[in-house]
Amino acid sequence: MTASRISIQGLRFSHGTRRILDGLDLQLDTGCVTAVLGPNGAGKSTLLSCVTGLLQPDAGAIDIDGQPLSGIAPAARARRMAFLPQTPEIAWAVDVATLVSLGRIPFRGECSDAQNEAAVEQAMQLTEVAQWRDRSVHSLSGGERARVLLARVLAGEADWVLADEPFTGLDPAHQFEAAELLRSVATRGGGVVLTIHDLTLAARIADRIIILNEGVIAAEGSPREALTPEILRDVYRIETQWIDDVATGAPTIIIRGRRR
Ligand code: ADP
Ligand code: MG
Repeated sequence: MTASRISIQGLRFSHGTRRILDGLDLQLDTGCVTAVLGPNGAGKSTLLSCVTGLLQPDAGAIDIDGQPLSGIAPAARARRMAFLPQTPEIAWAVDVATLVSLGRIPFRGECSDAQNEAAVEQAMQLTEVAQWRDRSVHSLSGGERARVLLARVLAGEADWVLADEPFTGLDPAHQFEAAELLRSVATRGGGVVLTIHDLTLAARIADRIIILNEGVIAAEGSPREALTPEILRDVYRIETQWIDDVATGAPTIIIRGRRR
């Protein structure tokens, strides 16, 4: 996989007269996991929707490897970027295997049926959803469905995976596994951009943190640079403390209470 970069410059987006994204400048790189945090309503989902082309910005430029994103045909863009929306609507009662195979739609005609089927099968194995292949997605629990949706995204084998709160609703074991799967996309040289509320999981999974607040970047950097007690106090109005595991060094961010 060749390295790829998404450059965002002066990104603005409004709903009516309300400015949601207020001139964001950002670079996103493959080979790492970027976690976007921020309070509810900060503009995280709006940012991902602009990058995936679902929303049209009012101003600013989004380029991928120097090429304007808006100039790339939707199917070609979908082959490069897989998107996991925050609350995907599944309109019809499709079975699990069919839903996961939707992740291969951008590749129809580009790859052989055997290649497409193999990618679907592998994604179902990795996310442990193959056991439900014939079940209707509507019969699954919220967390089970979240894993199926992750499988659909992984089936796309895209350079970029943009996932909006991919761990919400997953039990701790599957949260850990989903985090490992997304990590492995970055380890293979892909780009992972995800939104997340869990501070500890973000500190452990992400190479780079971006904190959005009221449509602007409040902080960015490594987890230790961006998830400091001072920044978290400013952004969320909470008191926090980092505790590092003595054996592994893995951090836990505990929330001690509301801002004093
Ligand atoms: P986040 O994902 O960070 O929680 P969003 O990007 O979903 O935030 O939303 C940012 C802001 O935009 C919120 O205040 C939300 O209420 C507002 N918003 C989202 N969609 C619409 C819409 N269709 N019309 C008006 N406001 C919207
Ligand atoms: Mg959101």
